[in-house]
Formats: sequence, C-alpha cells, structure tokens
Amino acid sequence: MVGYDRFAPGHDRSAAGGETRIFRSAHFEDSRYVPLLKHADVLWEQLQRETGHELRRLTGCLLMGRTEHHQMATVLQSIAEHDLDHEVLDAESLANASRSTASRTATRPCSTAAPASSARS
Ligand SMILES: Cc1cc2nc3c(=O)[nH]c(=O)nc-3n(C[C@H](O)[C@H](O)[C@H](O)COP(=O)(O)OP(=O)(O)OC[C@H]3O[C@@H](n4cnc5c(N)ncnc54)[C@H](O)[C@@H]3O)c2cc1C
Repeated sequence: MVGYDRFAPGHDRSAAGGETRIFRSAHFEDSRYVPLLKHADVLWEQLQRETGHELRRLTGCLLMGRTEHHQMATVLQSIAEHDLDHEVLDAESLANASRSTASRTATRPCSTAAPASSARS
C-alpha cells in the first residue's frame, strides 16, 4: 500500500504539526489509556535507538486544576492505579518551585496531577 500526503513530511498543517507535542502518562480522559501510553513510550524509545536520532526531548509538564474537577480526578486516578511518577504541589510550593525552575531542565515524561492548585512531573 502506498500513502500520499498533500504536503511534505514534517509540514505544519496537520493536527500532528508544530514543534512540540505533549506525551501524556497521567491521562485525564480515562485511566484505561495509561497501559497504551506506557506501551507507546516503549515503542518511541525503541524507534529512537533503532534510528540513532533523538526523536523526543522530554521536559516534564505541569497540570493545574481543582481536585474536584472530573478531569483532574481522572488524572489522579491514572496516577494512583498505575503508580506514575508525579509530584503534587499546593499554591505556595508551586510559587516556590516556579522561581527555581527557570534554569532547571526536567527529564521525566508528562505524568502530572495537581489537586487544589497544581503539580508537576
Ligand atoms: C492543535 C492540536 C494540538 C494537539 N496536540 C497534541 C499533543 O500535544 N499530543 C498529542 O498526543 N496529540 C495532540 N493532538 C492530537 C493529535 O495531533 C491528533 O490526534 C493526531 O495528529 C491525528 O493524527 P492523524 O494522522 O489522524 O491526522 P493528522 O496528523 O492531521 O494527519 C492528516 C494528514 O493527512 C493529510 N491530508 C489531509 N487531507 C489530504 C488529502 N485530501 N490528500 C492527501 N493528504 C491529505 C494532511 O496533510 C496530514 O498530513 C493535537 C491536535 C491538535 C489539533
């Protein structure tokens, strides 16, 4: 089978275009996605090894929301059910962390939850 795209590879007019992507581990729609995301993570690492190219540069991410919001509740459920690496911050610790984060580079995939105020991975 041959597939044709109307634009060249890497173009910026698809949903997958642009220079940055988010790779979620702590999914906000349904915790049942987490095993699929973990598997995708393994495949990306494998592809990176096979091609010898850096395909992803993981920077961590910050999710902010109220604990009672259903999407944040699902994030927390994903974390709890699948033991995902995360850190929970309240408003004060977030303010302190943001002051010291400017020059720091995170290296973990996006797997964050944020009850009450916010959190980071
Ligand atoms: C703004 C935005 C941000 C997103 N951010 C993220 C993110 O950070 N992380 C994440 O996991 N997901 C993200 N998504 C969702 C994700 O990008 C999409 O779910 C995914 O890219 C869809 O893949 P696709 O191959 O179906 O469509 P696309 O990536 O859009 O690819 C469709 C391709 O078909 C080509 N095409 C269209 N019509 C024709 C035609 N008639 N003839 C030939 N070629 C044609 C287009 O040029 C394009 O290359 C985002 C989506 C959007 C819109």
